This record gives sequence, C-alpha cells and structure tokens, in this order.
Amino acid sequence: MTLIEDLLILYSVERRLRGLRSRVDSAETYLRVQQRQLNTLLERQEELETHKRQRQAHTGNLETEAGAVDERTEKLREELNAASNTRQYHAVLNEVNTLKDKRKEFDEQTLAEMTAVEKIEEELAELEIQIAERKKVLDSAEEELESRRAEIKDSLATLEAERDEKADAIPSNAQQLFDDLADDFDGEAMASIELIDKRRREYACNTCNVHLPFDIVNRVTGRPDEVVQCQGCLRILYASDGCREALVK
Ligand SMILES: [Zn+2]
Repeated sequence: MTLIEDLLILYSVERRLRGLRSRVDSAETYLRVQQRQLNTLLERQEELETHKRQRQAHTGNLETEAGAVDERTEKLREELNAASNTRQYHAVLNEVNTLKDKRKEFDEQTLAEMTAVEKIEEELAELEIQIAERKKVLDSAEEELESRRAEIKDSLATLEAERDEKADAIPSNAQQLFDDLADDFDGEAMASIELIDKRRREYACNTCNVHLPFDIVNRVTGRPDEVVQCQGCLRILYASDGCREALVK
C-alpha cells in the first residue's frame, strides 16, 4: 500500500470517528448550557436570600428601637401626669411629640422593609419554579448524554483501535502533519484534485478550489509515497478517480 492509500484509509476512519464523537460533543455542549443556566438561577436565589435576611435583620432592629421609644414614651406620660408646673409639662410634652414622630418614622421604615421582603419572596417563589424546571431539563440532558455515550462506546473503541493501527503504518512526520490538519479542519485533513479542463491541463483542489500547477498534479499521481499539500488550504492532496483517468489517457 502506498503512503497516500494508507492516509486515505486513516482519513476515512478519522472522519467516522469525529462523526461519532460529534453526537456526544453536542450532547455535552447542551448539558453545559443547561448547567450554566441553572447556576445563574441558583446564584440569583442565593443573592435574594441574602437580601431577604438583611432586610429581616433590619426589621428586627427597627422593632427593638420602636420598643425602646414606646418604653420611653410610657415613662414620659407618667411624668406628664405628675408634672408640677407648665414649663415642665411643656418640656415633657415636647419630648413625647418628638418621640411620636420618631415612632412614626420607624413604623414607615418597618412597613417598607416588610413590603420589600414580600416582593423578594414573590421573586423567590417564581425562581423556585424556574429552578425546578431547569433541573428537570438538566436531568434529561444528562440521561441523553449517557445514552449517547453508551450508544457509541463499542463502535468508538473499534474505530479507535482501527485508527491507531492505521496510524502506526504511517511515518511519524506524515502522521503528525495529518493529525495537525485533522485538528485544524475538523477531520478534513485531505483534499482531492479535480480535473477542470483536460486539454488545458487545468486541475484544482476540490476543497478550496485553488488551481494546481500541473507538476503538483504529476507529483501526487506519480509519487504516491510522498505527501504533497495544497498550496491554498494546505490539506494533503490525493488524486480523484477523474483526475487519475485523465492522466492515464
Ligand atoms: Zn486546497
């Protein structure tokens, strides 16, 4: 077998391998997207829980302070009743009124905090539904990935063994070049030479359509143990049947 024939078999195995893997790859990508979306929801949930706790703590503080105001007011009222002159009475009354304003302020703040907490709770409830839905999608995405992995497991192992065996038959520099090109072009490491015009000896790369000088075509067909790359796309060239026939005739 010539080097190009060996490479063509490797090329075919490589493409079948990548085709198999792509089914698993797309399932993996889908799963990652679902996981990311779930994480965003979970982060938002945590953020809201923190806000809720902060607001509840603030409400607690407000209640304590309001309690202190009430206590002080109660005491002042007693003083008011016991006031012995008008000046003293007015002074105490003044303080009572100031405390009344303060108390009102606390009430308003408490109400605002409670409203905010209610809003957060509404959003949290909505979020919980979304999280449950997303988790379901994630579960089925995981199942799908597992079943695709199981589906291709045997054929993948067979093809990988075939690929390794084939690769061993190929000199390491050609093998390295093939692997690099396969990685760059998603498996499409080789390109055929197509006949464009026989009389004018016009040939082109079937992948990138660049016209190929006749001596390149001659090298590819005449020295099948040599690797020749397309000048346009750098893929390893091989002669198509049409091209070969044209040269034989
Ligand atoms: Zn090309």
